[in-house]
This record gives sequence, C-alpha cells and structure tokens, in this order.
Amino acid sequence: MAIEEHGLTDTTENTVHKVAIIGSGPSGWTAAIYAARANLNPVVFVGVAKQDPGPILPGGQLMLTTEVENYPGFPDGVAGPEMMMKFEQQARRFGTQVVGEDVVKCDFSTDGSPHTLHTSDGKTVQAHAVIISTGATANWLGLESEMKLAMAGGGVSACAVCDGALPAFRDQPVAVVGGGDTALEEATYLTKFASTVYIIHRRDELRGSKVMQKRFMDSENAEVMWNKTVVECLSTPDEHGSEKLHAIKLKDTVTGEESELQVKGMFVAIGHTPATKFLRETGLEFDDAGYIDLKTRSSKTNIEGVFAAGDVADANYRQAVTAAGMGCQGAIDAEHWLGEKGLN
Ligand code: NAP
Repeated sequence: MAIEEHGLTDTTENTVHKVAIIGSGPSGWTAAIYAARANLNPVVFVGVAKQDPGPILPGGQLMLTTEVENYPGFPDGVAGPEMMMKFEQQARRFGTQVVGEDVVKCDFSTDGSPHTLHTSDGKTVQAHAVIISTGATANWLGLESEMKLAMAGGGVSACAVCDGALPAFRDQPVAVVGGGDTALEEATYLTKFASTVYIIHRRDELRGSKVMQKRFMDSENAEVMWNKTVVECLSTPDEHGSEKLHAIKLKDTVTGEESELQVKGMFVAIGHTPATKFLRETGLEFDDAGYIDLKTRSSKTNIEGVFAAGDVADANYRQAVTAAGMGCQGAIDAEHWLGEKGLN
C-alpha cells in the first residue's frame, strides 16, 4: 500500500493550517484534492493501522475490499487498495501534506479562533477549518464467544477479504452472518476457498442487491440459512491449546428451535458504526445512529468551521462515489467559509 507513514513535522505543529482533514478514505482524499487545488495547503491525518476489535487501516474500508466495480471511470473494475493509492497520489500531486497519525481528540472553538486537534503522538495541531472524514467500522454480534475468538484469531472475523484466504478456511465450511451487500460480497469471495459458504440471515429475504444475490447463489458451494441468528460460537483447543471455532449455535427466528452448524470460520457482515467516538465531547451534533448530523444539504456541522464528509455523516448511501462527492462538498464548503472569514 502506498500510504506512506509520515511523522508530524515541526512545521506542521507550529503552523495554523487553513484546512485539516481527518481520515484517508475516498472522502478525505477528495477533500484534499479540492482543498489543495484551491491553494489551501491541506494536511491529512491518515490514521494508523489498528485492531478495534476488527482491522482498521489508513485508506479506510476500501483497503479491505477486493474488486470495486461500481466506481465510474474504472470500466474493468479496480482493487480497493489500488484505488485508494491513486486517490492519495492525486492529492499529493497538488501538495497535500500527509501525516501518519490518528487524531484522538478535538477541541473545537466557538469564538472564531482556530480549532485544536490532538494527535496519537501527543502533539497539538491548529486549523481554521476541519473536515472530518473518519468513515465507519464493522459491527459485531456482541457475543462473548464471538469476541473471544475474534481477538485470538480463532476463526471469527469481520473481514473475509482480510482473513478468508487463510489456510485454516481452505476447503472448510464457513459462515457469513448478514443479508446485505457486504455479506453477499464476502460470501461470494469465500466461495473461492471454502468447501461450503453458508449465509446466515435473520429473515427470509436478503437485503442485498439482486445482482449480488445472483452472483452468490450461482456458486455451487453457496447456501443460505434463512431465519437464523447466531447465539454462540463453539470452539475447541487446537494442538497448541488455542481455541478454534468448530461450530456455531443457531436459533430459528420463527420457531425458536436451536441447531448447530459445523463451520471453521465465521465472518460477521452486519453493517457498520461511524467512527465518531473521539468527537463525543466536542459539542458536535449526531443523529440517533451516531452519524454526524449535517446541516442542510451541505457538509456543514453545527460548529463553525467544522465539516463532515463520507460515511461518518452518511448512514444511507455509504458508497465510495458518494463519499468522494461529499469530500468535494466538504472542501468547497470549507473554502467558502474561509473566504467569508478572510482566512483563505
Ligand atoms: P446493511 O445493508 O445495513 O446490511 C446489514 C445486514 O446485517 C442486514 O441484512 C441486517 O439484517 C443484518 N444485521 C444487522 N444487525 C444484525 C444482527 N445484530 N444480527 C444479525 N443480522 C444483522 O450493511 P452492508 O451490507 O454493510 O451494506 C452497507 C451499504 O454498503 C449498503 O448500502 C450496501 O449496498 C453498500 N455496499 C455495496 C457493495 C457493492 O455494491 N459492491 C458492497 C458492500 C456494501 P436485516 O436485513 O434483517 O436488517
């Protein structure tokens, strides 16, 4: 992956930036491209790779995606990481500063003075305008046995693209939980490696698009377990004493009947949560699901000079192309706002 790790330079720390962008998915990089081309010298905090509890990477969710077929301009499709590399290259070409740190806390000013961002390395950075593009992360079922195995590499994961090709799952039965496009995409990917791929869905109808349903169903090792939820992950120790998944306990949502399904892997694909934890005490307004509440059809938040773009503020569309569009809006809104304040 091309996102280079950069420390925060003294220049970065001692300058009041015109625009700071937090996050490096499609919205963050697009905001950077627009802000850089408007001579606003943006600085992008790309974040650091971590497990929380699933993998979080600079570049965002597309770093965990194989083929992107619906982003205009790539008629033959493009790998998610490759697309993010191209976004980054384009942002850098116009002079975007890239910092390989997380922003862990924000003090947003309400008196017209610059906003203050605190980084994971203990530094503080000031910026007149801030564009939040931190995206969203995968949800989990919330079972104790699920989390225990996920944390220990015991066969439970929220990312088939990251873990599905591991030897432990080759020619073995695996399950994907969820009924949306993510579940279908991950399940289809797994059909290349696993002996049987079961989609476990709590209803009798999938939420995902018809084209992706067909793609999965067309695989001869694909199966859907309708009206089922996972109530427990069952494991046994391997030869080294590490607990490994061997089956999942299912409950029928109609009859209440319980059953066991023998699987070596379980991939959870039940939606995402916006990455807004670090913004909770800032005075920003959020909707009921925790997404940043935008004012009107713009990227403006309730705080002057603070803008949000992409999945962190969009529970609805959550596409690379809509996130990129929102990043563009964020940069244009920030540019106008800086102009109005005489700060550009
Ligand atoms: P989603 O559309 O919100 O689907 C989440 C699925 O998980 C739903 O089927 C839901 O069941 C199920 N679910 C939620 N909580 C659950 C729980 N606690 N237990 C069991 N099942 C649970 O999320 P997504 O699939 O991540 O997709 C998000 C957006 O990204 C969508 O707009 C999608 O179209 C898009 N996307 C597109 C592509 C692509 O085009 N290549 C790929 C991936 C995602 P119910 O159906 O019963 O609610």
